[in-house]
Amino acid sequence: MMGIRAAGKTDVGCVRKHNEDSFLVDEALGLFVVADGLGGHAAGEVASRIVVETVARFVGETLEKDRTWPLEYDPSLSYDGNRLKAALLLSDQAIGEDIRRHPERETMGSTVVAGLVHGTTVTLAHVGDSRAYVLGPGGIRQITRDHSWVAEQVANGILTPSEARVHPFRNVITQALGNGGELDIEIQNLDLGKTDRLLLCSDGLSGMVSDPQILDIVEGTQDVQSAVDSLISMAREQGGEDNITAVLVARSEDEK
Ligand code: CA
Repeated sequence: MMGIRAAGKTDVGCVRKHNEDSFLVDEALGLFVVADGLGGHAAGEVASRIVVETVARFVGETLEKDRTWPLEYDPSLSYDGNRLKAALLLSDQAIGEDIRRHPERETMGSTVVAGLVHGTTVTLAHVGDSRAYVLGPGGIRQITRDHSWVAEQVANGILTPSEARVHPFRNVITQALGNGGELDIEIQNLDLGKTDRLLLCSDGLSGMVSDPQILDIVEGTQDVQSAVDSLISMAREQGGEDNITAVLVARSEDEK
């Protein structure tokens, strides 16, 4: 049986008073989630927690295909793709419902990146600037495209990637769960090679630690928990300007 090894950690960082990030590591479901809440005054942490809980519940309820689908089923996507897409749409609705009960949380929302791992197949869904990377002996590859203003400027050739990293608008995202806007949820599939790792993270990691530094740390240890701990430590050492979250997933060695 091929198993997976995974670890996750979140840290408030060195500047912020609250940690508005949430994450989930569920090896049994093969489900891994990072959500970065927005809205301040404790609302952001509510939003990111709603996302993690809603995704975990829906994915847990849809192990079998014999369920009435709560939303439109997209035949162009795999079953796992539909599970993640529906889970994110339900998270969006759940934040909206919470805002109706608590109008003081009006501005809250959340990014999300979620991975569902079955065997060697990874299905990814994301909204906002939380990222998924695949790392291996061949290097580090960013899988998700940020839904952010600076990423659009880079795509249009107006900013370079290094200008985007330090741009004053680098934190402006173009879509989020719960803010009432139209959602364009991206679903992707990829194969996880034997020595590959999947990293999900909030921008408090990717904004503080460069891709080559992330690769060095992850390739430097077999132990996923110590790699995650080192990633968080380096983000803190390099400023820790935002909440920092990392989830690392590897295929386990005991393949039979
Ligand atoms: Ca953040």
